[in-house]
Amino acid sequence: MLKKNEIYQTEITGMTAEGNGVCRVDGMAVFVPMTAVGDQLKIKIVKVLKNYAFGIIQELLTPGAGRVNPDCPVFRQCGGCVFRHVDYPTELNYKSGFVQDAFSRIGKLYPEWESILGSQEISCYRNKAQYPVAMQNDKLVCGFYAKHSHRVIPYTGCTLHPEIFQKILDYLLPVLQKAHVSAYDEQSHTGELRHIYLRKGYHSGEIMLCFVTRVSIRKKLNFLPDLKEKFPEVMSICESVNPAKTNVIMGKTVEVLARQNFITDTMCGNQIKISPQSFYQVNTAQAERLYAIAKQYADFQGNEILLDLYCGAGTIGLSMASSVKKLIGVEVIPQAIENARENAKRNQITNAEFYCGDAGMIVQKLAEQNLRPDVVILDPPRKGCDSVTVQAIGDMQPDKIILISCNAATCARDASLFSEYGYHVKKARAVDLFARTSHCEVILSMSREK
Ligand code: SAH
Repeated sequence: MLKKNEIYQTEITGMTAEGNGVCRVDGMAVFVPMTAVGDQLKIKIVKVLKNYAFGIIQELLTPGAGRVNPDCPVFRQCGGCVFRHVDYPTELNYKSGFVQDAFSRIGKLYPEWESILGSQEISCYRNKAQYPVAMQNDKLVCGFYAKHSHRVIPYTGCTLHPEIFQKILDYLLPVLQKAHVSAYDEQSHTGELRHIYLRKGYHSGEIMLCFVTRVSIRKKLNFLPDLKEKFPEVMSICESVNPAKTNVIMGKTVEVLARQNFITDTMCGNQIKISPQSFYQVNTAQAERLYAIAKQYADFQGNEILLDLYCGAGTIGLSMASSVKKLIGVEVIPQAIENARENAKRNQITNAEFYCGDAGMIVQKLAEQNLRPDVVILDPPRKGCDSVTVQAIGDMQPDKIILISCNAATCARDASLFSEYGYHVKKARAVDLFARTSHCEVILSMSREK
């Protein structure tokens, strides 16, 4: 029986989807963060549960393949990256492994996988960051939550983010403090500033700055004219007041403090307007490659009706609109649908319609109106689709279903539900949009046997 605080010598033999190395000690699986497959090491057991345990590295005896020195000073504390101690090819190997594993284990699906597509940029690729704010040693700071906690690790130099984010934050924090803006304290539910939210258009360079607050700090922000002058690329300065005791970052509304309430970027050649509330893939260049794969999987002939579910600001569907007869997009966030409609107009796309509402409900309604899409693209959030949505699509009998997901486990579950409607996986590929973190995107094309 494993004991807490005991030291064991062992070897890491696998990697979980959370980025923990796995080893077996006394017949029990032990998960050890920041390890590499092949590591020979001594571990200290820190937690023992019924069927598995957690350990930490006590001493690395022989490093596994691909190990490198972590290049980030807060890698150990921060909950963001999990793979800074191995090189990128090794990370891609792990990701490819756990994506395929999710499909065989959860979906009982064994498609022929194309090789994983790695990101061309593995640093400065994120176009969005939401920094929690805190008061530490009489200083207003912002940074990242420590692993499994809401303790703020002050750090503005994250290498996943564009360098300009750090410049803006390093300018902002002292001026905010001078303006007597207080940090929100979760425990006592007091204080003002909860998060600083930044977004940058990858191609346009336009920047959005949004203060997420408990109570408005609008009257204290007399430095905004200076900020605009210093950072002319900041095209949008907003505030979202969120008075609730919640983990949800954004409030229900967003008010403009200066300039406008959106930025624009280009994606797959289309001009895209993005509101603070709209989803926008965080790795633009790699998302463009993902959408190109989706288009290639769809193999449009020109006369199709395309249903783009969970469409956000419309980016995927709009990138294909010129190849189909009609595009219908569905999304639950009203601001995103507004963006999608305007994005169609901005790009002179006239064969697109967008509906706001729950994907399952709208698909059922469209089915009642006898809509028969030829291709359905689904790009749901991490929790995947629900069975109502799968059933409604299955009943519509499209020729092709293209599933895109940032969660291989729920994607495998949904794909196996579609297989009950006669759909088989024809093409499958992991696409890494989230280098250095544990996340990975998956894309599948499924067709019905005629
Ligand atoms: N396809 C888009 C967005 C994908 S993210 C892109 O690539 O940019 C998933 C989207 O699903 C988000 O925009 C989210 O708001 C939306 N969403 C979440 N639950 C939904 C539901 N039940 N019905 C419709 N859309 C939903």
